[in-house]
Amino acid sequence: MAGTSEAFVGLGRAVVAAVTLVATGAAAAGAQQAADIDAELVTRVVSTLAADSMGGRDAYTPYGMRAAEYLAGEFRAAGLQSPAGADGYLQRFSTRTLTVGTGRVVVNGRQLLPNQIAMRLGGGDIDWETGDVPVIVVGPDDEPLTTVTSVANAGFDALVLIDEAHREGFGSLVQLFRRPVRVLSSATGAAVVLALTRGAEDSTYRITHTVTAVEEPLANVVGVLPGRRTDEFVLFSAHYDHLGFERPIFGDSIANGANDNASGTAAVVALAKYFAARGTPERTLLFAAFTAEEVGGFGSRHYSRQLNADQVVAMFNIEMIGKPAAAGPNQAWITGFDRSSFGQILQQASAGSGFQFVPDPYPSFRLFSRSDNLTLALLGVPAHSISTTPIDTDQDYHKFSDEVETLDQQHMLRTIRAIARASEPIVAGRATPTRVDPATVGP
Ligand SMILES: [Zn+2]
Repeated sequence: MAGTSEAFVGLGRAVVAAVTLVATGAAAAGAQQAADIDAELVTRVVSTLAADSMGGRDAYTPYGMRAAEYLAGEFRAAGLQSPAGADGYLQRFSTRTLTVGTGRVVVNGRQLLPNQIAMRLGGGDIDWETGDVPVIVVGPDDEPLTTVTSVANAGFDALVLIDEAHREGFGSLVQLFRRPVRVLSSATGAAVVLALTRGAEDSTYRITHTVTAVEEPLANVVGVLPGRRTDEFVLFSAHYDHLGFERPIFGDSIANGANDNASGTAAVVALAKYFAARGTPERTLLFAAFTAEEVGGFGSRHYSRQLNADQVVAMFNIEMIGKPAAAGPNQAWITGFDRSSFGQILQQASAGSGFQFVPDPYPSFRLFSRSDNLTLALLGVPAHSISTTPIDTDQDYHKFSDEVETLDQQHMLRTIRAIARASEPIVAGRATPTRVDPATVGP
């Protein structure tokens, strides 16, 4: 789960943790009764990912890549196939961090000073002459921030001429626009240039500017179980990245992210093994462990560009299932419950099982928009996150204390079994959730 600030932004205890989590006699009996979710596999994946040797699985670090390679091995062992276009089970890609370099901005024959210019160049160098891009004018009585925000979000190249009456407010826009921008290397972002000058829509201009780009590699872990229907996909996903090394607190400088989100990743691996053991499914099942959820959702954003979202029937995105819900055990909640019939299908499939799926009890936390499901939901997919952690009171969320010892292993197992059971009608092609309306989904 990503933090709220940046929208889409303990040494040597692993051995002890692994011992703590090894199934007791009672747990083993439970595992036998309920389907075939492999309890030892869940324990192993959580303990391995949350161990200090994984360094908090920060995207853009060797630790993140180490976690990806480890998970690739688990995907293979689970019986998944490597999807077309992947390097084994790794879906490699990169992002670029763009910093504005040097150039010239001339409007109506006058060259502007650096403090009269701000720009965000998402697609590389620019070289514009009059007529190349739309000109948007913010007059003395208009509100600059509203216009600039909507232009910046619109995704097209534009020149915004801001009247000199807004000289004071312009400084904060400059600060906002000076931050480096990180984008998917495969995506071309828009270029927006702000100029503090009196102008009109028919103003003439000549603008040349450079950008420096730093390219950084990332990898999702992806697998597939081909079904009888080759053009209908059900996606099970979780992000495997976490926050990595932070400032030391009492000697612990690693945010291990056991609950966030080694727990969800372990669920995806365990579900992969469960479904692979059951033979060919009706619908084709996709499994993904996403990178860079905590720093912009780049993993799911890249992933969504590699498939036809119209063919994705449902996305089960699993987040922080290591602790029981506030309302009690045997319950999980679904973000954006009312945005599709996904939740109702899960409820019906769980009737009488003793496990309940309920709407997200924390609407003010906007959790539907704070994980990888958002990317697919924006493409119309019934894409929801399933979680159990009481995020309003949880003391370990995004803290060093999110360690494997804090997790309730039996609760995790029950939750994963419940997801396996509840997804059955969708996997078997008997139920199809209604689509999400992207127009109603905002980041
Ligand atoms: Zn998180």
